[in-house]
Amino acid sequence: MEKLSFLTEEEVLFIKNHYSTPIFVYDEQVMYQRAQEVLNFPHAFSFTARFAMKALPTRRILQKFHKWGLHIDASSGYEAERAIKAGIPPSHIQITAQQIPVNLRHLIEQGVLYNACSLQQLKVYGEMFPETEVSVRINPGLGSGSSNRTNVGGPSASFGIWHEYLHKVYEVAHTYKLKVTGMHTHIGSGSDPEVWIHCAHLALETAGKMPDVQRISLGGGYKVARMPDEKTANLKEIGNKILPFFYEFEKKHGRQIHLEIEPGTYLVANAGVLLCSIIDIVDTGPSGYRFIKIDSGMTENVRPSMYGALHPLIVVPFEQGTPRSEYSYIVSGHCCESGDIFTPQKGDPESLEPRKLLEAKIGDVLVVEGAGAYCSSQSCKNYNSFPECGELLRTAPFKFEWIRKHQTLEQMIQNEL
Ligand SMILES: *Cc1c(COP(=O)(O)O)cnc(C)c1O
Repeated sequence: MEKLSFLTEEEVLFIKNHYSTPIFVYDEQVMYQRAQEVLNFPHAFSFTARFAMKALPTRRILQKFHKWGLHIDASSGYEAERAIKAGIPPSHIQITAQQIPVNLRHLIEQGVLYNACSLQQLKVYGEMFPETEVSVRINPGLGSGSSNRTNVGGPSASFGIWHEYLHKVYEVAHTYKLKVTGMHTHIGSGSDPEVWIHCAHLALETAGKMPDVQRISLGGGYKVARMPDEKTANLKEIGNKILPFFYEFEKKHGRQIHLEIEPGTYLVANAGVLLCSIIDIVDTGPSGYRFIKIDSGMTENVRPSMYGALHPLIVVPFEQGTPRSEYSYIVSGHCCESGDIFTPQKGDPESLEPRKLLEAKIGDVLVVEGAGAYCSSQSCKNYNSFPECGELLRTAPFKFEWIRKHQTLEQMIQNEL
């Protein structure tokens, strides 16, 4: 059975009683540690690390990473604006987006960097800002991800400009007198380190054919172990393996390439937990299942339903004392939706995989570990009209600060006429 990572059982019960559930709790210390590891990524020359803010875009989180020296990767114009509103200097923000921001002009004029992800994006940017510098996202022809849904490279991904279309990039660049000084790849979340390294090699090969490129971003995608049988990517090891590529590149092309990486998951996945209350326990007879029902679900964390992603689940009894046995349970969310479960079969959201947990009682807390990345930000917010839950930052043992309050029903319906 899994164990609590940064909270104690006493803290879990304290939070339930003082702040109510469901609620996210993020640990500042864990985030700081991860930020240091990312900032120490081996690099040959100069280096920038960005936080891929779509993983966890709450203001205070962005401010923390900014304070620690990270820049921002924004996935939309709105994210860029949100980061600016949080106090991030525009020059520390780069947009890599599927959709051209409606406020692109305004953002670029403030100093936000732009990474064109298609030929069309490059054209639009060129029309707006001729004779400037720009970066382009290249699909290096291969991808990797923990599932097909998180794989964003290779022939079946629409992300970036296909690597064989470089000549088209330069046609557009020539038309608008753009200087392509940046090149970017991001092949997927939860990538296999070997594939990632191979992709870095391909990226540098492509950059060799791009005479003005000074800056290469290798994206994010570093694997994080949430479950005990998973393995976290070793950034030092990966970084050291790609170092020689950069020295070779310098020898061959006479350019000292500035390296960028932009992790999301790596920085926050294991810095966050979701606390839910166990609200009901039912079963479907001797040949059926035992179910734990919680006051949360896909409204806070859609990863299990969407990817068949597994998170450690821990039952914290509401009262200490009487010893309890263990049972296998299906953990079921509070939405009227059979797909709303936290116990799918790994990688297969269609199938159930009962999980051995401490005997659960109504009133206990269920702690969902590894819930810092793509949970709060990616959930089926407001489905079944459940309000968005709040978020706490843990700054020290038993020290919690609101960083986002619980949403009210009034706030949920405020735009309705
Ligand atoms: C989502 C994303 C990232 C971060 O990916 P992780 O798997 O969370 O590290 C980095 N770069 C781009 C362009 C992204 O879209």
